[in-house]
Amino acid sequence: MPVLLAALALALWINFAPFTRLTQPLAAARVAHLPATTPFYSGQRIMVLSPHHDDETLCCGGLIQQARAAGAEVYLTFMTSGDGFEFDAAFEGRQLRPGPQAFRDLALKRMDEARAAARVLGVPASHLSFLGYPDGGLLHLFLENYATPYLSPTTQLNRVGYDGALNPGSSYTGLNLERDLDARLDAVKPDLLLVPAPQDAHPDHRTTGYLALRLMARRGQAGRLRFWVVHGGLEWPLPKGVHRTSPLTLPSRGMNLAWTRADLTPAQVLQKARAIREYRTQMLLLGRFMEAFERKNELLSTTPLPPGPVLHGH
Ligand SMILES: [Zn+2]
Repeated sequence: MPVLLAALALALWINFAPFTRLTQPLAAARVAHLPATTPFYSGQRIMVLSPHHDDETLCCGGLIQQARAAGAEVYLTFMTSGDGFEFDAAFEGRQLRPGPQAFRDLALKRMDEARAAARVLGVPASHLSFLGYPDGGLLHLFLENYATPYLSPTTQLNRVGYDGALNPGSSYTGLNLERDLDARLDAVKPDLLLVPAPQDAHPDHRTTGYLALRLMARRGQAGRLRFWVVHGGLEWPLPKGVHRTSPLTLPSRGMNLAWTRADLTPAQVLQKARAIREYRTQMLLLGRFMEAFERKNELLSTTPLPPGPVLHGH
């Protein structure tokens, strides 16, 4: 209990405006000195791996617009169906204790929201792919359930249960998730793959980053990966809420990654904000967190590790 209270006090203090005013100029200066992201080019094939519906817009809504403006093709692949968010299912289903059906309904709603957000960002519907694996369960698929199906505690499903998914009926195993993502990589052949960094705090995000590294390294294409963070630790991003002329500063969990900065035009920030608002089920409970990504820049790391000497093993 004292630990919980201390954590709450820390969160309150960090969110407290004078603290942010004190630390923000330093954090902003650090972002200002970052190198720019490599420009996109016509015909380039870019895929964003999104653990949940909304991550692709939060991390990369501006980059996606810039890629489209340069004539690049953008593909979005959603790893989970976002069917594990209890408060959200309760809200949407108007039930205090949502049953499996409420979680499944939420998944279908979130898939529609993802389609709407993609439309706002200029990504054609045919470039979206929903793998449909369990929200909150991805790490289990690689720890305990690589070959034996995982049972989702929220939807009570042990297989992909949604029409519109890539492989409906596919058992929830690591093997199948790996096969489905591999098939998407074969079909799209991305020149650039934007994925969560291993430092992201959410287990679904870390697992997505791990799987992307594994599959791209096996193809000899690990150099095509770029990494982003959405759950950056210590209440990041600060300040919460709408601050569209402020920079997105470095996340505490990935402070020393090889960051590059993409500057967004005011029009691109506005369009990103519109896409974020298509996620109505998420805005309801996480609004101020999501709005904190409406900033004048986005961040991508060129490696999953901080730059530094590489120790060669045997
Ligand atoms: Zn997420």
